[in-house]
Amino acid sequence: MRTKKVKQAKESIETSPLIIKSPKIIQSDLPIVLEIGSGKGKFITELADSNRDKFYVAMERDLNVCYRILEKQEILQLPNLAIIPIDAKDLNLYFKPNSIEKIYLNFSDPWPKARHHKRRLTAKSFLTLYESMLVPNGQLEFRTDHESLFKDSLEYLAASNFVLEWQSNDAPLREAVSEYELKKRDNGPIYGFIARRK
Ligand code: SAH
Repeated sequence: MRTKKVKQAKESIETSPLIIKSPKIIQSDLPIVLEIGSGKGKFITELADSNRDKFYVAMERDLNVCYRILEKQEILQLPNLAIIPIDAKDLNLYFKPNSIEKIYLNFSDPWPKARHHKRRLTAKSFLTLYESMLVPNGQLEFRTDHESLFKDSLEYLAASNFVLEWQSNDAPLREAVSEYELKKRDNGPIYGFIARRK
């Protein structure tokens, strides 16, 4: 993005009431669904638009990408969507323990080098965090086109308290599709799993 655009993105994010800036606990009478690493927000805005009986939270740490979610939300004005421009490691500053019904991870960064594996959004420390934030029986749903990230993530899961409910080497389309999924489907298989918190 050009410098002028980056500046504009920063200003919009700082002034928009649609973006939650300082840490505060998200409250909703509706079941809360979170997507971590929402990218430009196609998936979560589509879900929020077609499921008004749930409250959706888009978490994305890259401000320039977050701006793209904001652009969509400024058009759609979905009453059941919040945007949090933070790193997922600070998840616990925004949610009560046992309060999230479902967490989606779509096409998370693969961090292929072994020394970076702990940064993966399915790494042990993140799984522990998700476990504490999900309601009992809450779900974690993951998709990627990156085979080794998928295989490793299944191993991280096996060593956690999550129970694997479903896995696929050829995951079908769902009710919403992310920017990456749309692009990567033409190139090869999409891997996916759904796991449940005990
Ligand atoms: N889910 C989108 C984007 C995938 S790219 C899609 O499927 O199209 C991965 C995104 O995750 C990037 O936008 C990156 O900025 C974000 N991300 C990576 N690590 C993150 C973290 N720790 N916290 C929040 N966002 C993160």
